Amino acid sequence: MSAVAPLLQADALSVEFPVRRGILRREVARLRAVDRVSIEVRAGEVLGIVGESGCGKTTLGRAMVGLIAPDAGTLRVEGRDVATLSPDERRRMTRDVQMVFQDPFASLNPRKRIRQVLELPFEVHGLAGGAERDARIRELVALVGLSAEHLDRWPHELSGGQRQRVGIARALALQPKLVVLDEPLSALDMSIQSQVLNLLVDLRERLNLSYVFISHDLSIVEYLCDHVAVMYLGRVVESAPAAQLFASPRHPYTQALLAAVPDPDPRRERPGRPLDGDVPALLHAPGGCAFHTRCPLVQPRCRASAPDLRVVDTVGLQRAACHLL
Ligand code: SF4
Repeated sequence: MSAVAPLLQADALSVEFPVRRGILRREVARLRAVDRVSIEVRAGEVLGIVGESGCGKTTLGRAMVGLIAPDAGTLRVEGRDVATLSPDERRRMTRDVQMVFQDPFASLNPRKRIRQVLELPFEVHGLAGGAERDARIRELVALVGLSAEHLDRWPHELSGGQRQRVGIARALALQPKLVVLDEPLSALDMSIQSQVLNLLVDLRERLNLSYVFISHDLSIVEYLCDHVAVMYLGRVVESAPAAQLFASPRHPYTQALLAAVPDPDPRRERPGRPLDGDVPALLHAPGGCAFHTRCPLVQPRCRASAPDLRVVDTVGLQRAACHLL
């Protein structure tokens, strides 16, 4: 194992939300949206987080950038426990880890011109004023393929692709090391998706960035990511280097997800078949293995106890949580 600390490391990270009922909004239960997730991202790496809607991937991404405080577990940035940082150190950390949101329209303030949108990170962190800030903002729009003329526009005057480029520029304003990309392409037209994807690939190389790429589009994940974690109802059920996971998925849930994707390689035979039905509501998450209500291989013990995530290959790179492995 490398002696250099991962850029970002989550260790048994959990995030819960209260469920409130009645006029007094009393807390009647807690939903565990992220359940003891342990993952890491190394410098220069792209980690994909995949799973159906409601599997907790967006909540995990928000916890990674500090938008949601975890209820348990540890989050480290370059080896330093975020919970032990002083307020100044934490602000510095938020500069290193930024986020691009799924809906570029909802994430831009409609009452601010693009110039003001891009000025905000500098204002919040007290960085670069006057002519220097102006020059940095012009560099940023050029970096994401927009022109200085876009700076005076309102968000509604831009196309979806242009708005997402602004979202990316805003995330890059403070020169982060890691960007968490939460379904950055899913709100865009198909014709625009490849342009924004190419931009992300180009920026990664030019700026030596690391990404956490949250997506339900497995074709893009296979193309872009070095390592993949598959989530189901808040837990990681399988993780592996991307090439290994796509060539040899081991968990029945991963197999089902991949079986639903058209495979461009006709020689590759994928096990499993696509899933029926939806993910159960988190409030009524099944006991034991949470996947047992949809798993084609379910056994009596699957209902009784939850399997741990453990190594399932000979070199220790692939992990899965299934009693049969
Ligand atoms: Fe299926 Fe049982 Fe494995 Fe869960 S533990 S994935 S229900 S076989």
